[in-house]
Amino acid sequence: MKFNIQNIEFEGERTEHKVDDLSPSIVRDFNKCILCRRCVAACKNVQKIGAIDCINRGFKSCISTVGDHSLNDVNCTFCGQCIEACPTGALHEKESIDDVWVKLKDPDTHVVVQTAPAVRVALGEEFRMEIGTNVTGKMVTALKRLGFDKVFDTNTGADFTIMEEANEFVERIQNNGVLPMITSCSPGWVKYIEMNYPELLPHLSTCKSPHQMFGAVIKTYYAQKEGIDPNKIYVVSVMPCIAKKFERQRNQMQNNGLYDVDAVLTTRELARMIKQANIEFTKLEDSNFDDPMGEATGAAAIFGTTGGVMEAALRTAQDTLTGKSLEKIDFEAVRGGDGIKRATVNIAGNDVNVIAASGLANAQTIMEEIKSGKADYQFVEIMACPGGCVMGGGQPIKSSKIRREVDVRALRANALYSIDEKSVIRKSHENPVIKKIYKEFLEKPGSHIAHELLHTSYEKREKYNI
Ligand code: SF4
Ligand code: SF4
Repeated sequence: MKFNIQNIEFEGERTEHKVDDLSPSIVRDFNKCILCRRCVAACKNVQKIGAIDCINRGFKSCISTVGDHSLNDVNCTFCGQCIEACPTGALHEKESIDDVWVKLKDPDTHVVVQTAPAVRVALGEEFRMEIGTNVTGKMVTALKRLGFDKVFDTNTGADFTIMEEANEFVERIQNNGVLPMITSCSPGWVKYIEMNYPELLPHLSTCKSPHQMFGAVIKTYYAQKEGIDPNKIYVVSVMPCIAKKFERQRNQMQNNGLYDVDAVLTTRELARMIKQANIEFTKLEDSNFDDPMGEATGAAAIFGTTGGVMEAALRTAQDTLTGKSLEKIDFEAVRGGDGIKRATVNIAGNDVNVIAASGLANAQTIMEEIKSGKADYQFVEIMACPGGCVMGGGQPIKSSKIRREVDVRALRANALYSIDEKSVIRKSHENPVIKKIYKEFLEKPGSHIAHELLHTSYEKREKYNI
């Protein structure tokens, strides 16, 4: 206006890029890219993967993969850290929102939703609430308003994971099994080890991740209990993670020809659905998760942060080995934001060396130690995202200014530790829902049926399928 410019005669040349939407987790639309290279720094420097890089010079510069192949066909782990760094949306998750709306409108489908621990301490940020606000009650109300038939808590699934994982750890110790045992609930990490260290796969726990275990229980125990045909149940997982979209469609994640989980929404996608439905999130009353699988422990809540899975498993392992309900349940040494935390904990009179690592660069350090035979530890927790699920690739995106000024990880993680502290039950094996389902259906941790439904296997993957 100031210079009275009425029209621009020069349109300028534009580069056209084909949108890459072949992977189950990420869409690359480089027509929106401003070549800031933050995604490259996240992938190459933070995660030490290097699946994407800047190629060509001048006007032809662009971000690409080896041979310009789809992210589906290169060494991408689907950790989503590049999405968190991208300021324009040129990289984003592959949406499942439309599929879920279709099922919600179908009267013949029983749509069950479950929400991961880290979602409840970040979802509020999409509605301008303070970072790390615990919005569990509002989130459950919103999900009920969206039309889900049942709203369950993935934390209950995390309690199943601890039962199985602690049992597997104790068995490996007692029977000279492969040690160190490494956790398997982060699908980006699982894809990483399958691609980069397949010879170390026997170290990986055979436990499925919490939402997969829970999906399997919903389509068997819950279906029988409620008299619902499992073919008519559609399980939706709301996750802080985009690698879960890849995980849910793995061949190993099926039982009787049915996938454990049918769709995965990120925290951001759930917020978009709530906005599409014109729900005023901040004004919602609180609601509770539904019975019969809505009760979870404090141990499950801390799954969402680095060191949490380890701490939850140690609480159950020490009670199992001593046969007592021990009062010391806070394992401070595995808490905090350090990328690698090493500690020695005494369990039933034995010193056990443990490590909690987050971020794939740190995972590489640990893998090299194990490979070289230098590892003198027995239990390792690894999360693909630096800081764990609270900083997952499906969480609300924070500008670089906020990330510089505020410790987002600590605020979200502290909210989870606060949920744990306030929980009446803080050990997975003391959850009455878990006890009931083992008694009525799963028999005991590590039983034949538990193995069929709650455990999985892995496969060596080529780094480049091209
Ligand atoms: S998802 Fe992770 S591994 Fe894949 S390109 Fe992005 S940062 Fe790299
Ligand atoms: S972060 Fe986004 S905008 Fe920046 S270079 Fe990567 S894809 Fe392009």
